[in-house]
Amino acid sequence: MRWRIGKELERAVAAKRRVQIALAVLILLLGALLATGVYSTFALYRSAEDRYIHTLFPLKTHSQDLILQMVNEETGVRGYMLTSDRRTLQPYFLGRKNVLTDLAKLSQLTASRPGLQVELKPIRYEIRALDGYFDRQITFVADGQLGEQRARTDVLGGQRLFDRFRVNSQSLSASITAFVDQTRSDERRTLTRAIGLLAASGLFALVIAIFLLRRVPERLRSLYSDEEQARIRAEHGANASRALAHVSDAVVMLDDGSRVLSWNNAAEELFGVPAEAALGRPAGSIFPEFGVLIERSGGELTPVRIGGEERWLAISLSRFDGGRVVTLRDATSEHVLERARADFVTTASHELRTPLTAVYGSIRTLIDREDELSEPVRQRLLKMIEQESEHLAQIVDQLLVTAQIDRGRLRMEERDCNVAELCASVLEAADSRKPESIRLELVAPPTTRPLRCDPPRLKQVLVNLVENAIKYSPEGGRIEVRIADTPDRLRIDVEDEGLGIPPSEQARIFEKFYRLDAEMTRGVGGSGLGLYISREIVEQMGGLLSVRSRRGAGSTFTVTLPRALSGAQPRADALVRT
Ligand code: ADP
Repeated sequence: MRWRIGKELERAVAAKRRVQIALAVLILLLGALLATGVYSTFALYRSAEDRYIHTLFPLKTHSQDLILQMVNEETGVRGYMLTSDRRTLQPYFLGRKNVLTDLAKLSQLTASRPGLQVELKPIRYEIRALDGYFDRQITFVADGQLGEQRARTDVLGGQRLFDRFRVNSQSLSASITAFVDQTRSDERRTLTRAIGLLAASGLFALVIAIFLLRRVPERLRSLYSDEEQARIRAEHGANASRALAHVSDAVVMLDDGSRVLSWNNAAEELFGVPAEAALGRPAGSIFPEFGVLIERSGGELTPVRIGGEERWLAISLSRFDGGRVVTLRDATSEHVLERARADFVTTASHELRTPLTAVYGSIRTLIDREDELSEPVRQRLLKMIEQESEHLAQIVDQLLVTAQIDRGRLRMEERDCNVAELCASVLEAADSRKPESIRLELVAPPTTRPLRCDPPRLKQVLVNLVENAIKYSPEGGRIEVRIADTPDRLRIDVEDEGLGIPPSEQARIFEKFYRLDAEMTRGVGGSGLGLYISREIVEQMGGLLSVRSRRGAGSTFTVTLPRALSGAQPRADALVRT
């Protein structure tokens, strides 16, 4: 699950990155487009300014003005020849000055264009020749009539010079016009190229924009849906692990290499190893028998020793792609109960069979040999029938009381009871059944105040304690029942000199069906219910039943009852003393 969420998040992040890259490319392209547009406009402006304003227009203007000024010069000289008035030479002087300016400008403008300079060269000679001609004509006219005569005869020479100048000037003008046309076509090409470049970049940007507009919303939608899915899965995962933390069974997830991927709270408790210490480690290094446990999964309860204690585990295993989940249920108490039940069946059947056999045997003897039997023997047999029937009734009664306790239906009455008398009657009854060598004694204060309690139930408790004392006493043992009366409570001790109970078992003997010697190797029978019932009864009277004992040194069972009935008190195992 964690692996899948990781993949989805990775995919979402990668998709987000791709969208970001596409947007960045689009922004860069738009920027490049803008820069290209600005640059092209600027380049066009620069080349137009360079060529038209600074070169082409002046070239054209000065080449045309050159012809005009030469015409002015000629007009001025012709006028002077006609009028001999020096004032008519005004256009001539002005033209000459302007011609010099035009030539200087043309030289400068054609400096980087050798073709035009070649064409300008003959024009310059012709202007010089024409200027020489005009100077001569002016000098002739200024010399008087004879001079005027000579000037007129030389008019044709001037005409020829001027025609040559005109042809060359027009040729220069034509070259300049061709240059202008060439420049214009260059400009157009530059413009077309710039527009083409802009259009191509614009188109490219448009394609990317359309692509992004079509893909981005869809991509973002799937991205958000992926993220949402991943979030839901992560939440689900968190809830699952929260639930796992509250599961009472130990749940351990292992990868293919048996390394721990998940270790819940119950596993921490069962193995006594915190999750931080378990995660990532091979299961076998945490608990060496883990491999064996896995092999036994699905079968019967498996016994293991954890922290020195025996535990019975129910193991189940489920496999998934990439590992296994092992569930371990601590069924120790179930197992103990089950074992106790099994023991009980053995014990109870033995317990019931023994008196039944005795009763049956006695009855058969009484019927079959009625005539042969003497009166004392007949009486003994009848006594045995009575005692064994009582014993049978006692066992059945124990079973019924246990069932009532289990269902919470044990009814208690409340009456005044003379405890000393009650103890005496219990001992008296026991005396008739006990082996002869065992001595029973009652130690009671001279007077005891009556106690509010349920006398038949208290008697049941005392009978059980005294009978146990007899059962587990060695030959010649002494059993003492002591009553101690204090203002607020009454205490009854039943002390024997029997086998004793080891400390580790002292709490367990009060458990249902629990017997120290379940297999009855000592030949002492019992249901394992007596002490369980006794403690329940005493506690329902608001008292306590405890034991002090040492192995081989006898046991003392103590019933402590309050003077006023105060209802059931919690069981106080802590009161078991050694
Ligand atoms: P049972 O019918 O087996 O006596 P109980 O509940 O009365 O059942 O007693 C439980 C177990 O406690 C007994 O099986 C016995 O092992 C132990 N026990 C009880 N009383 C004594 C005692 N006075 N001395 C030694 N062991 C005792």
